[in-house]
Amino acid sequence: MRVVHNTDELKEARARLDGSVGFVPTMGALHDGHISLIKNAKEDNDNVIVSIFVNPTQFLEGEDLDSYPSKIEADTKICELAGVDILFLPTKNDMYEENEISIGAPAIQGYILEGEKRPGHFDGMLQIVLKLLILSAPTRAYFGKKDAQQLSLITQMVRSYFLNVEVIPCDIIRDKNGLALSSRNKYLDAEGTTRALCLSKSLTKATHQIISGERKSSVIKKEMLNILQEADSVDYVAIVDRDFNDLENIEIENSIILVAAWIGTTRLIDNIWV
Ligand code: AMP
Repeated sequence: MRVVHNTDELKEARARLDGSVGFVPTMGALHDGHISLIKNAKEDNDNVIVSIFVNPTQFLEGEDLDSYPSKIEADTKICELAGVDILFLPTKNDMYEENEISIGAPAIQGYILEGEKRPGHFDGMLQIVLKLLILSAPTRAYFGKKDAQQLSLITQMVRSYFLNVEVIPCDIIRDKNGLALSSRNKYLDAEGTTRALCLSKSLTKATHQIISGERKSSVIKKEMLNILQEADSVDYVAIVDRDFNDLENIEIENSIILVAAWIGTTRLIDNIWV
């Protein structure tokens, strides 16, 4: 595995690769969710590039940019063992210049749900993903369904900018109790970890209701909110179609049920695709 630290090195290393390239962008503190993306990339492609960069432009004032977990040594080992070909570890100065041209998320999809609670988050996310896609020039890029709105906006950006890359959505990886893996789970203590299960439990409940024939979003959301009382607060429970339009009724094969909630000072998100 080649570890590269700046954009020139990455471009040079990328140019040496023969065959297809799978790209997995991450912010590090790698867990089994990230590893599943890398495995998918490895299966589909001749080469795999992983990036680790905690992107400052997607964090809002007061968010956890400075305390975001960092485990570069362990992450490097994980990538090596997973058979990654190039690991890209840039700094902020490598990725950004002052007063640069930036792109923005569309007004509606970029500013609802996550975008409403974290205004500007998706602008910064799209800006860095665009840069990383241009630099790594992959055949395919891998993103988790865990960040469903992010995945949808990236798919839209790839289409809008005619980028020559296939976006591959990857399933959500959970722990044995159902908690969706996240680098931010590290902030939870034992009690918080138990309470955090209310997110996945609310989604399981929704699934059971749908299996029993319930289709009304309002009924499903009400039941979810009951279970989510275990959280300290709930940012949103939403039922949308795959383009993130609100749904009054579940449409099988075209719905996403999303939840964002706080456990103490930790904000967690989860969803299921129905
Ligand atoms: P992050 O490091 O949190 O920016 O995540 C990097 C990529 O890993 C994103 O595409 C995430 O959606 C994906 N990811 C994070 N957690 C999970 C998970 N539990 N299952 C599947 N993919 C995940």
